[in-house]
Amino acid sequence: MCGAIVLTLCTFVLPAAAQLTSVAAEHTWLPWPSVWPAAHPLAPVVERVLETDWAEQPAWKVPMLVNGLSKQPLQCQITAYCSQCCDGGGRYTRWGSHVRRGICAADPRYWGPGSVVWIGEPVNEVCIVEDTGSAIKGPHRFDVCMEGAHDMCYEIGRRKTIYVPLYRVPPTSRWSDKPKNWSPPVWKLGQ
Ligand SMILES: [Zn+2]
Repeated sequence: MCGAIVLTLCTFVLPAAAQLTSVAAEHTWLPWPSVWPAAHPLAPVVERVLETDWAEQPAWKVPMLVNGLSKQPLQCQITAYCSQCCDGGGRYTRWGSHVRRGICAADPRYWGPGSVVWIGEPVNEVCIVEDTGSAIKGPHRFDVCMEGAHDMCYEIGRRKTIYVPLYRVPPTSRWSDKPKNWSPPVWKLGQ
């Protein structure tokens, strides 16, 4: 029993921890947790990103996720949309960008354009707030874009899940003229 646990630790936990330590070394400005919070829902997300397509990830994503480990997950209510939904509008977001995976709509009274949140199951993705919607009201309400997977819009329906705010843009920010090739600024200590 004990041996099995030790073996499991050596096989799975330690390589992931080593990878994370090397990421910590690259980002010394991150508030790296002294004890890895394995119970945090973002911990497996960071590990999955590192194990699969870390090199393909935008540079801001992992630091933001790691920083999110210091935040408590919050409850939210989600729905999903795509450009094919009858009430989902057209192909463009309020920010002027294309409707696509990896974005969501939120209430502009609480979330500025370019805010970043991780949304839990069944979405389990990092989403940039680029859209709004008349029915999307309140600080804990998101409409997640499932472009290219219209079935998922119905499957998700309207449900409760968790989210972690990763980057909050002031709600007073402008919604017109999204800068070209924009990506969220990398979170730095002291900002
Ligand atoms: Zn749809």
